[in-house]
Amino acid sequence: MIAYLEHFVHGNDTEVPLQNDAVAALEGAASFNFGATSLAAKDFGGMKSAHPLALIRPSSATDVARAMAERGLVLDMRAMADEEDHFTLICLDESPYVDVSGGALWEDVLKRCVSRFGLAPKSWTDYLGLTVGGTLSNAGVSGQAFRYGPQTASVAELEVVTGKGDTVICSETQNSELFFATLGGLGQFGIITRARIALQQAPNMVRWIRVVYSEFEDFTEDAEWLVTRKEGVDGFDYVEGFVVVNGDDPCNGWPTVPVNPNQQFDPVHVPRSAGPVLYCLELALHCHHSDHPSEIDMEVDRLLGRLRFIKGLRFEVDVTYMEFLSRVKRVEEDARVNGIWDAPHPWLNLFVSKSNMAEFDREVFKKILKHGIGGPILVYPLLRSKWDSRHSVVVPDSNIFYIIALLRFIPPPPKGPPTELLVAQNHAIIQLCYTRGFDFKQYLPHYQSQDHWKLHYGDKWSRFVERKANFDPLAILAPGQKIFTRIPQPSICPSHN
Ligand SMILES: Cc1cc2nc3c(=O)[nH]c(=O)nc-3n(C[C@H](O)[C@H](O)[C@H](O)COP(=O)(O)OP(=O)(O)OC[C@H]3O[C@@H](n4cnc5c(N)ncnc54)[C@H](O)[C@@H]3O)c2cc1C
Repeated sequence: MIAYLEHFVHGNDTEVPLQNDAVAALEGAASFNFGATSLAAKDFGGMKSAHPLALIRPSSATDVARAMAERGLVLDMRAMADEEDHFTLICLDESPYVDVSGGALWEDVLKRCVSRFGLAPKSWTDYLGLTVGGTLSNAGVSGQAFRYGPQTASVAELEVVTGKGDTVICSETQNSELFFATLGGLGQFGIITRARIALQQAPNMVRWIRVVYSEFEDFTEDAEWLVTRKEGVDGFDYVEGFVVVNGDDPCNGWPTVPVNPNQQFDPVHVPRSAGPVLYCLELALHCHHSDHPSEIDMEVDRLLGRLRFIKGLRFEVDVTYMEFLSRVKRVEEDARVNGIWDAPHPWLNLFVSKSNMAEFDREVFKKILKHGIGGPILVYPLLRSKWDSRHSVVVPDSNIFYIIALLRFIPPPPKGPPTELLVAQNHAIIQLCYTRGFDFKQYLPHYQSQDHWKLHYGDKWSRFVERKANFDPLAILAPGQKIFTRIPQPSICPSHN
């Protein structure tokens, strides 16, 4: 939702207030009051905070560029998405695209594209209460990424306000270096004020399926077979997977598997040889009103027929496309009621090469995480060929790698374990990956020093540094990532009002 500009108020630092003329020039709004800036100081992780000087609600790219001339600001990009006309359908070479504000929420993109045009973006995140600019600054991964790549792969054009305050239109053929830098660029090179996103026909319904495995090898072989099917020839439209505790724990175990409250997980089907955890493939097939239910059944049976899941542990339900894509909204609503949504979230997201997954399973899923994490442990394969190496995000070298996401939803202490303990568990997992020499990268990375960032970017580090020098030479953007230190400048705001 929010893009950050250097620099923040720390402790007793004295800050230079915004010049009145700069504020007056904004078409949007600026808030200096403690309530607004306190809200902007927090993030979903809930473990760190940085209090900004002001919260700016820009209403245009011009406002974003104006704010760049000042210091210590948080931009609430949602403000730019309030206007109806920030959703424009474009047709290029007979293919549909939508132009959306960088501050638009994906859930709004979904609603408007489907209701107005019967079209939808191809690639999603699981949770849609995130901004377009926010996920494109990382990658944007969900169960469609095996086919269409991450969300960054569906972008045809961006409007970006760089760290120099320039508003630039960029694409693969126009200002391409800025385009590639910004996608997956962690907000380091510019602020995305508009994105042009490829669309496809939206299905009406989705057959949503979960099948359970006791053997990791069977699970991964089937998952990899599914993600390497050709589009339109064979295969599901969505492939994800997750680990569940082999027990009746309501948060981490069998009860979390069925997709429909009327279904029961009958543990009698779990083989005696099963270990402490089970693996669940989550699949979806897009359907249209014109498809006859018996045709859908036949197609699903055919596709599932060659998979080696535990017979008897197959769960499915038909839902509308909107319901399917909004499935995590219901988790959010429950978590808000239980006070867990606003608790700290020591999450860990990794990309790990296929060749290291058996060991990862043995050491991490079956040992460190065998009692679960109080939330989903996602694990599913992605294809490197769908990731554009010109973008700033880095992934493992192997052709198939897995995303592993530890999405902890636990009550804050004293009801839940101390957050530091969970952070330490995350570090132990990362350390294990280093010690064993795994081919892996952190997704949604955060490090405390530039040396760690260098290690993260590996041979792409010098490219990252060059891009920074080109587009944000004073290092004013997204300082919270601790990748670059701001280059001190003589005061640019001489008037202390
Ligand atoms: C509940 C939840 C579920 C998630 N699920 C998924 C998932 O399924 N798949 C996935 O891939 N990711 C997922 N994420 C991670 C998500 O992609 C990142 O956290 C992303 O940054 C969120 O966007 P935001 O709008 O909330 O950004 P914010 O948290 O507001 O901003 C984070 C950073 O992104 C950058 N940024 C934000 N907006 C812009 C912009 N317009 N231009 C340039 N930079 C910008 C800035 O550096 C900013 O500091 C999830 C996150 C949460 C909190």
